[in-house]
Amino acid sequence: MHYQHRFQDGSDLQLPLGKVVCVGRNYADHAAELNNPIPSEPMLFIKPASSVVPMEQPFSVPQGMGSVHFETEMAILIGERLQHADLSAASAAIAGVGLGLDLTLRDVQDGLKKKGHPWEKSKAFDGSCPLSAFVKPELVPDLQDQQIRLTVNGELRQDGNSALMLNKILPLICYMSAFFTLEPGDVVLTGTPAGVGPVLPGDQLKVELVDLLTVETAAK
Ligand code: ZN
Repeated sequence: MHYQHRFQDGSDLQLPLGKVVCVGRNYADHAAELNNPIPSEPMLFIKPASSVVPMEQPFSVPQGMGSVHFETEMAILIGERLQHADLSAASAAIAGVGLGLDLTLRDVQDGLKKKGHPWEKSKAFDGSCPLSAFVKPELVPDLQDQQIRLTVNGELRQDGNSALMLNKILPLICYMSAFFTLEPGDVVLTGTPAGVGPVLPGDQLKVELVDLLTVETAAK
């Protein structure tokens, strides 16, 4: 399926879809709920372009692979090439702010973690990254004071603020760019606050970048 990045206001956005660079355990309350220690340096992983689907359309929950968890995350659209970026380059490269669901095969991940194996199968599978449209960065008053929320079947499940990120967005982008060149159209997922849990076919989800963007969608 052809995927195209888009702005929430419908204005033109001509960036190709690239990879999605993610950080694990970027909120202390989420690390604690899974009994994970807080990492001493950012824990990075990548979801490939083939994992991305539009959040506004019903997304598939893999069957027969154990529990599938939602993780609601602030998504940053990269508009300029970044390699060993400094803070000002990272800031200037932000083309949009949106929402991503970092869908995770939690049982598969637990098995891989026990064996000391990479997480890819649990994090990078097809459809594992529903992505919203993006809000222009100038409309976001403060990247590090932004509430994100997830409501499932009318029940508030995640309600976190980017102020609580262990690695703030700009230094995180710089750190990522020292390992992985970020290209125009790549997306950075900034970690999930606490409250993660299983998502089941038929669940109705409301995902919010509070006061900026609301996506109503469903799992199938
Ligand atoms: Zn995540």
